[in-house]
Amino acid sequence: MHTPTTQHRTTCCYCGVGCGILVNQDANGRLTVEGDPQHPSNRGLLCSKGMNLHYTVMDSSDRLLYPQMRLNRSMPMQRVGWDAALERTAAVFRTLIQKYGPDAVAFYVSGQCLTEEYYLVSKLIKGFIGSNNIDTNSRLCMSSAVVGYKLTLGEDAVPVCYDDIESADLFVVAGANPAWCHPILWRRIEAHKAANPHVRIVCIDPRRTDTARSADLHLPIRPGTDIVLNNAIGRVLIEQGWVDHDFITSHTDGFAAYATQVMQRTVADAADLCGIEPAQIEQVARWIGQSTGFLSLWTMGLNQSVVGVNKNLSLISLHLITGRIGTPGNGPFSLTGQPNAMGGREVGGLANSLPAHREVTNAAHRAEMEAFWQSPVKIAPKPGLTATELFDALHDGRVKAVWIINTNPLVSMPDVNRAEEALRKARFVVVQDVSNRADTVPLADVVLPAAAWLEKEGTMTNAERRVTYLPKVIDAPGEALPDVEIIWRFAQKMGFGSQFNYATAADVYDEYARSTAGTNVDVTGISHALLRDRRSIQWPYSAAARAVTESVDDADTGAVGTPRLFTDRQFYTPNRRAQLQAVLDENTSEPTDPDFPLVLTTGRVRDQWHTMTKTGRVAKLMQHVPQPFLHIHPADAQVRGIREGQLVQVRSRRGEVRVNAQLSDDLRPGLCFLPMHWGKQPGNSTLNRANNLTSSLVDPRSKEPDFKFAAVEVVPY
Ligand code: SF4
Repeated sequence: MHTPTTQHRTTCCYCGVGCGILVNQDANGRLTVEGDPQHPSNRGLLCSKGMNLHYTVMDSSDRLLYPQMRLNRSMPMQRVGWDAALERTAAVFRTLIQKYGPDAVAFYVSGQCLTEEYYLVSKLIKGFIGSNNIDTNSRLCMSSAVVGYKLTLGEDAVPVCYDDIESADLFVVAGANPAWCHPILWRRIEAHKAANPHVRIVCIDPRRTDTARSADLHLPIRPGTDIVLNNAIGRVLIEQGWVDHDFITSHTDGFAAYATQVMQRTVADAADLCGIEPAQIEQVARWIGQSTGFLSLWTMGLNQSVVGVNKNLSLISLHLITGRIGTPGNGPFSLTGQPNAMGGREVGGLANSLPAHREVTNAAHRAEMEAFWQSPVKIAPKPGLTATELFDALHDGRVKAVWIINTNPLVSMPDVNRAEEALRKARFVVVQDVSNRADTVPLADVVLPAAAWLEKEGTMTNAERRVTYLPKVIDAPGEALPDVEIIWRFAQKMGFGSQFNYATAADVYDEYARSTAGTNVDVTGISHALLRDRRSIQWPYSAAARAVTESVDDADTGAVGTPRLFTDRQFYTPNRRAQLQAVLDENTSEPTDPDFPLVLTTGRVRDQWHTMTKTGRVAKLMQHVPQPFLHIHPADAQVRGIREGQLVQVRSRRGEVRVNAQLSDDLRPGLCFLPMHWGKQPGNSTLNRANNLTSSLVDPRSKEPDFKFAAVEVVPY
């Protein structure tokens, strides 16, 4: 019998594409999902993960339902009430802060958090506890791009929008596999190319991924040589006169130093280092020179590197010397990995930042936020501990207590065995999560059950600065609470009640929006109520801009806000000029040697998300790749006596992994690949964890780990 359905508009909570989803709820409460044809980010399409998203909330078998705590780690967890859990946590935090100072405690949060949640944790620790010890797993994902944008454009601001795709005729995809990791965006690019055969795609990746297969030119460069390649392309552009001298003169600084740097190495030398042909470098430069719309897209292959910032700078420079920014179809476009990594950056979720991209090192910014928050303490002028620094500090005892929200660092941190030791050594661990599958739960002193997607309301910002509202559709199971409410209840237990006296997440968003007034991230025109009406808005969108837009009936187009930045060629730097950066092309990853002669890179598979606490529960998604594996080149396998499907041991200077080998010539000889998703559960083995092997080296400026380059050896097991 047909039952009436209620339809709700929301957003996918997996990747940074930020697809709009229609959730249909029948009279029996059953849920189905479909793509929202009105949402400008996906126009009705969903990938396999999005299409199966409702299963993650309909199956509550792994949900954390009640607060739990124990007085020491040898005791079993006991179910307690919210007041007891939060009062004990507040008492422990207060004691540690009084005894050791505010930097004895820390929060580690997630690009899965909604903007309101991020904002409130940042406000609590920076403005009220007096420490900047909050960092996010976005540090492992986007922080090199953040620094790259700030150094060149003056702010962490993605200059382009998805609509630029249809205006571009050249896509340079570097260190990314959007065909698997940002599928809906990639389908839009493929559709554009199918309709316009002159459109070209270049893919720069040591692996022949699905993205590389659909490219006109695949450059399988040696791992770590991205800067060599980008600088060589820059050299050819300059030598051939394919640069925009008017733009360089009028809108940039630093060209002379940049040109001097890229001339240091010949194209032939660069090609040799990269393991490709000089003609291929010249080909890319020629295509950039001939294009009318040049978009570069990148993710972890550039960001997750010990020289990640320099990789970003070398790529962004190609846009600045050619003036390919701020016009339709032109610009650098970092593809955000997580659904709300961007929102977290906006509200100060990184250890070095404050709301609206303010910096903790800037005295004026600190004073603005102290006044805005009516802080009882001074905001600390020193950046807090970044993700890997935080686990180091837990390991050596400088940080005593950590509160982990919606992230699973015992799978996702580099050199994860050491991270696990660190968490075992911590004096007090709070885990706030949706699922008991998070590997952190067994090490917690207090476990707080959080509401999941559809069970709470708030906002997220996707990769093109598009803010979308997510409504509460269903009740959370058991006693799980929205994360934002957990934090404001805790702040009240800490004695900060008057400044954490919210009734709804909308109140929190309104406060954050007021803090952005007059900044480059001005969202004073955005509210939950407006987002419910308009679906989504791209920042900046000030109250003044809203007053103008209100007179235009564009509610169904999604064309609200600011799609493209720098259209006036005025950048966010103090002198309004973009800053070209000359960068050395060396890679400082750990060296290979006879004991560890292969390079390991890690990454995603198509149907899994991060540490599988959600996608790992969906049978349909497990069918694509049911088990972890090692991709190794047949030549490397042969000299080691490794056969297809054989169990192998992969070992590095830090640990080992045991998985079955898959021989593949889709990667360069000397390179092997492990998916990053598998952790301790299911199966109670840590020998699946790719991060047993990865290096804890980080980029010195972004502090992003070197996930894409670890020296390893592989042997039959
Ligand atoms: Fe969700 Fe990303 Fe897939 Fe869109 S592309 S449905 S946002 S996982």
